[in-house]
Amino acid sequence: MEKTPPPVGKLWLVGAGPGDPDLLTLRAARLLASADLVVHDGLVGDGVLALIPPHAERISVAKQRSRHTMKQELINELLVRETLAGKQVVRLKGGDPFIFGRGGEELDAARKAGVTCEVVPGITAAAGCAAQAGLPLTHREDASAVSFVAGQCKDLSDQDWSGLAGHGRTLVIYMGIATATAIADKLIADGVSPDLPVAVIERGTTADARVLRTLLTDLGDLVAREAVRSPALIIVGKVAARADALDCFGAPGVAEKLGNFA
Ligand code: SAH
Repeated sequence: MEKTPPPVGKLWLVGAGPGDPDLLTLRAARLLASADLVVHDGLVGDGVLALIPPHAERISVAKQRSRHTMKQELINELLVRETLAGKQVVRLKGGDPFIFGRGGEELDAARKAGVTCEVVPGITAAAGCAAQAGLPLTHREDASAVSFVAGQCKDLSDQDWSGLAGHGRTLVIYMGIATATAIADKLIADGVSPDLPVAVIERGTTADARVLRTLLTDLGDLVAREAVRSPALIIVGKVAARADALDCFGAPGVAEKLGNFA
């Protein structure tokens, strides 16, 4: 009697984009429709989760700053175990899996365990949120370079951001809301002009998105005044002046400076 071979599982590291389900790739939508198991994080919005068919198993491994519901090693183990059991596993992550998403660690774990793994790119928050706000991250007149940094690190002073913000550059800070004041202080101490325009985009691409604008010197106060909540991005650079945004100024005369920054 012939034995049926064991089912062959596969792991897909899938980017869910910045929030709006219309910004999923076609491949991501197709994989969601055929997955046996979807393991998702907290950034994935309800609109995207609604595309998971009822018969698919669903596990949330939502993480919050300083409160991890599931340690990364346990997530890696879960993905490897379920895929080796023969399932089609979709690991669904906000934005792009490889931009501050720990997708690289999950890929390493899969490779180490001999699990077949494919990565499906997603629109990262910087690209999606900036586009929605009409804010070009690069612009022939204003910026020929753009950098993405993580602002959550406990000791920001250990991070070398010199040269990433300022003339001709755009700096996008992920996970920087809790440390916004320290970020502004750090950039200004590095020689960046306190008058450089800054945009803050909260829940970008979703129905309740907010886009706020001020000058670098006012960034920390703006975040406090407006009670900005994560997920939010901070975009520092002259291009921020081009955004369609609500201007939130700390001091009189700032509105004029925002547009006139040279
Ligand atoms: N892999 C994700 C980023 C994960 S880090 C990506 O490529 O987009 C989480 C951070 O992403 C948040 O703290 C926030 O800074 C940013 N972020 C994600 N979605 C966002 C959204 N809809 N609006 C604003 N910022 C967002």
